[in-house]
Amino acid sequence: MTNNALDQVIDRFREVSDRPYEWLRQWKKDHNAKIAGCSPMHFPEELVHASGMLPVVLQETEETVTEGFSRVHSFFCGITRNVLDLAAKGKLDVFDNVLYSNICIQNTNAALSLKQILPKGRVAYVQLPTSLTRKTAMDDALMELERTKATLAEMSGRTIEDEAINHSIAVYNRHRALLRKLHKTCGANPDRLSFSTRQAIIRSGMVMPREAHTGLLEQLLESLEGIEPRASGGKRLFLSGHLCQAPKSEILDLIEGVGGRIVDDDLYTGYRYYALDAETGGDPMESLAARSLDTSIPVPTRSDGKIRWDKYILDRARESRSEGVVVLLAKYCEPHLFSYPFIKKTLADAGMPHIMIETEHEAMSLEGVKTRLQAFMEMLT
Ligand code: SF4
Repeated sequence: MTNNALDQVIDRFREVSDRPYEWLRQWKKDHNAKIAGCSPMHFPEELVHASGMLPVVLQETEETVTEGFSRVHSFFCGITRNVLDLAAKGKLDVFDNVLYSNICIQNTNAALSLKQILPKGRVAYVQLPTSLTRKTAMDDALMELERTKATLAEMSGRTIEDEAINHSIAVYNRHRALLRKLHKTCGANPDRLSFSTRQAIIRSGMVMPREAHTGLLEQLLESLEGIEPRASGGKRLFLSGHLCQAPKSEILDLIEGVGGRIVDDDLYTGYRYYALDAETGGDPMESLAARSLDTSIPVPTRSDGKIRWDKYILDRARESRSEGVVVLLAKYCEPHLFSYPFIKKTLADAGMPHIMIETEHEAMSLEGVKTRLQAFMEMLT
């Protein structure tokens, strides 16, 4: 495959990630199928897929929040204000249903407000266990997933058989495997694709039918294999944070513009989205429940004090031979604010340099960020 063909595949990803809701509107028209919006992070998308609806992870858009301010506090994070704003403006009407889960207080509050804005019965709430190591966690997870399955069956008008769920798990596992391959390929040579391009690829995979996205990923990976890797001259960085949404591409471009090379990450729109598969072949509900309780990829929205996100970040940064860590913290994100002091101390004690950048939904002064990033890069040995 030629560079030109590579550009064409990347354009297909960008077409979706740049304007996800417009793209979905056209897709719905062409396919006459139901679409379910899923709140980010711990939602079992495979169950939605098995119901025959298209699962779409809600995406933050650049829309200025106006109507949304009457629905949510102004000190709520960007994604909650953005989603409620889009709903109040009628821009979420592409979704037949919206499914929220208990990732944090702001998300829970957004679900309540969304129930008031969208037509009755269109919003459902999923309460997965937050403490992953309690004795009852498996039973609690199974019970909630069974309840969610019943809700989805009602929404889609289809009975959801185990065979269908196993098939959906296999579709998702294949998709995740290719995203992990891309992660590894680009981590080994970050100059192959800019990080914002990688983000566009992943975000489009949260929107498009996973089967179609898998096909495009296969083309992309094949074309990347044909391109000779170049030696990267930048500083190796581990990118952490942004718990449930993608960072602005301008910030990612700035990091690379000042000489940073992102070799690994723990972003939701990154490694966390595709890190964990669910097992196939057995009881699929048990498999999804077990995956939902897996503690190997820590995140502060699901914890019980024993799971050390700070230590995990340090370990991953070391394993990837990163020279420093960039922490992107979405403004007003409580779970991240709660965890950051621990991250700061753990990285400092271990002598791992880091910089924390607070990001905003609204326009930010990038000049200030650039100056801080430049100083950080100069500090790295
Ligand atoms: S995890 Fe953070 S950014 Fe995401 S909805 Fe909750 S508070 Fe907002």
